[in-house]
Order: sequence, then structure tokens, then C-alpha cells
Amino acid sequence: MFSLLSLLKSFFTHIVDFIYPRICNHCQSTIDTSHKIFCSACLQSLSLVNKQGRCSRCLVYLEDDFSIYCETCALKPHYFTELAATFEYQGLAKTLWREIQSPGGEEWIETAASFMVMQMIQLGYPIPDLVIPVPVNKKGLLFSKKSIKQLLAEKIATNLGCKYVDPLYAVSYFSQKGKNRLERMQLSSDMFTWRKRVSFCGKKILIVDDMMVSAATMHAVADKVQEGLPMQIYGISFCVQI
Ligand SMILES: [Zn+2]
Ligand SMILES: [Zn+2]
Repeated sequence: MFSLLSLLKSFFTHIVDFIYPRICNHCQSTIDTSHKIFCSACLQSLSLVNKQGRCSRCLVYLEDDFSIYCETCALKPHYFTELAATFEYQGLAKTLWREIQSPGGEEWIETAASFMVMQMIQLGYPIPDLVIPVPVNKKGLLFSKKSIKQLLAEKIATNLGCKYVDPLYAVSYFSQKGKNRLERMQLSSDMFTWRKRVSFCGKKILIVDDMMVSAATMHAVADKVQEGLPMQIYGISFCVQI
């Protein structure tokens, strides 16, 4: 009886797949296996960001082979031991980022967080003591729904077996959308304030974001975190769009 039921289930699955073939959400080619929304070829095309030839503070491409920092970053103090992104905002990573932002996209958080951990391992990041998200603004706090940044930070903390905290918020509504690079770089740590005091003293802190465009937000958060005298600050973003 059981095998007959399995057979029927398999038969109907094949019928449904035949009538409504599963299509890769990125390249639109037909997928032969169930439970996937991207084809194997697309998944294999993903490659982690290589930091070589890029400013180590903001990931912008450098104009020569000798500099470590771009002109803007060389003039400013910064508190990151290391800052990195997992994928360029292009190809499948772009589609995956959009999936995550769309309604119901939370189911992709685990996958995205795993890729971010993979990048951290490749770059030799230590296991942090605390994982914190880039803060949401006060308006965002009114909604009980967590932001993508918070969900990613939570999942990374779980994967690494360390503590997740969310101690900051942005004092007023701020958005970096539509601003040019110079305007974006004006962002300061004054934008953030403590929601609850957490001891950072002597600890390794990991700041998590979903998208970096100029890295200015990440640096402003690191400036604020630095007030708590941590031992080291690391940063990781899911995508980078420079
Ligand atoms: Zn595909
Ligand atoms: Zn830079």
C-alpha cells in the first residue's frame, strides 16, 4: 500500500513537473530536480569576491598596484581590522539578493548566511564574540518584522555558535539611496545611538550588512562600535555594488 502511494505521488509530481516545468529563477532554463529554484549551472557560476586590487576599507577598485587604500579612505581613520563582501551585485548573486528582499524571501537567509560564513572562513576571519547587524532606523523598530540585516546577523551567529546582539538604532530616518559617493561618505557615527548598552570591551565584533555601496554605513557603525573599546571589528556584507 505504502509503495503504491509513493508511486502515485511520484507519478503526480512528474505530471505536475511536465505541465508546469520548474524553471531556474535566474536563467529561466528548466530544472530537472525538485526543491530548487536555481539550476546547477547558475549555482556553480557564483564566485566569492576577491579583494585583490581593491581598497581594503571600501572595496572600490584601485587605480594602481601599490596603494592599499583609495584616496578617500586614506584620509580618514577607520576601525575595521577587515571589511569584506561575499558577492558582487551581479548575475545570480543579484537575483538571490532580490529574492531575499521579496516577500517570503526569508527562506533564503540560511543560504545567504552560509555563503557569508564561507567567505569569512576563506579570508581567515576569527570567530567573533558578538555579531551585530547594521542598525535599523527608529521607524523600522516600530514594526515587529525583522530586517534582512538582522536575520542574516542572527543566522551567522547561530552558524558560528556565538552571540547575536542588536544594541544600536539610527536616530532618524536615513537612506543612502540616490546619493553620490561623496555624499554617502559624509555619514557619521552620530547617526546611531545606543538602544541598550552591551559590553564590547576586549571583544571581537562582527558587523553584518546585506548590501554595501560605498561602505560608508559600515564605517559609521564601526565608528560607533569603537566607543565600546572592542579588541577588533570585522565587517561582512552579502553583496557589494561599487
Ligand atoms: Zn540557471
Ligand atoms: Zn576606499
